Amino acid sequence: MPCPYYKYGMCNSPKLDQPTDEFVNPVRCNGGPEIYVTCAMYIPPEESRNLNTLEKNDQGTSKNTGNITEPRDNRGIYPLINFLPMPIHSECQYYRLEKRSSGIIVARCEILKRYLTKYEAKLCEHYWRDCPFRQ
Ligand code: SF4
Ligand code: SF4
Repeated sequence: MPCPYYKYGMCNSPKLDQPTDEFVNPVRCNGGPEIYVTCAMYIPPEESRNLNTLEKNDQGTSKNTGNITEPRDNRGIYPLINFLPMPIHSECQYYRLEKRSSGIIVARCEILKRYLTKYEAKLCEHYWRDCPFRQ
């Protein structure tokens, strides 16, 4: 079964502002779930519904305190989809971990300028080299 976001040769991922064929790879997009879930553009449908509610232009910046930083505010952070039960690290230079005063950890992408879902943070951890946003 192809990726649910693959339609008429275009990627309709909710991570994109508009459909594009820029990230399409027919083998991956037409592959089974074991293949298309590794795509950086893919997000599980249940998370995509929540992603639509995220503030896309969060202007908050962070105070650097080492590997994990402290966010100035909570804009764009939604507990169910953004809170990480434990730190997820990535070697991507655009990936940031932030620690809230409550001790909760969230991950942020400085290219996307928003907080990442748990699922996205896992992709950044394992597949950051293939992330299309870094190219
Ligand atoms: S596999 Fe990736 S690029 Fe292809 S349609 Fe799905 S999300 Fe888009
Ligand atoms: S989404 Fe891509 S660019 Fe952003 S932090 Fe993750 S790997 Fe880096």
